[in-house]
Amino acid sequence: MSRRTLPLDDRLYAYLLSVSLREAPILAQLRAETAAHPLAQMQIAPEQGQLMALLVQITGAKHTLEVGVFTGYSALAVALALPADGEVVACDVSEAYTAIARRYWAAAGVDHKIDLRLAPAVDTLDQLLAEGSAGRFDFAFIDADKQNYIAYYERCLSLVRPGGLIAIDNVLWDGRVADPTAQDEATTAIRAFNAHLAQDQRVNLSLIPIADGLTLAWKRL
Ligand code: CA
Repeated sequence: MSRRTLPLDDRLYAYLLSVSLREAPILAQLRAETAAHPLAQMQIAPEQGQLMALLVQITGAKHTLEVGVFTGYSALAVALALPADGEVVACDVSEAYTAIARRYWAAAGVDHKIDLRLAPAVDTLDQLLAEGSAGRFDFAFIDADKQNYIAYYERCLSLVRPGGLIAIDNVLWDGRVADPTAQDEATTAIRAFNAHLAQDQRVNLSLIPIADGLTLAWKRL
């Protein structure tokens, strides 16, 4: 039998979490603190953090990139999954949000793995490329302003090695990408990004309908 992806109602989602979520207490604490934040919806879902940690472990990633940190949940999930000498180069522009992130990274004992760059991410990624870091990274996560998604992706594709993985968040954008009446800037940017990836022969793809939609792009060898 083949069928489309199941819609998750509240009961089935609660069941999914009950039989699969293994969230470290420090991650749960960060999620609880962030839930009170006015922009709490910018935080990734816990089962998505767990998927990203698993991807890092499956691929044996050591050098990772993050574009868009917010209060640091995804970077913390990844850093906890990395080996002791692993690194997350984390890009964000907000001193205020990343102050929360730094507090939790330190409490978890992984702050030495996370290199936070407070600057526009395009500048940081260009600087990494200029320093000769092309092909140095094993994994990248993009979850920042949607208007720059293609710019972030193109730079990350240069920065990851062949066989490296890029994960891109919010590609289903609360369903608005499929609503032709939604023509706001972020929605049209995500549509353009999804179309860009759909024809990109440099990568193998899977769009996973987890949380708000997560595309995995694997850089071909
Ligand atoms: Ca997101």
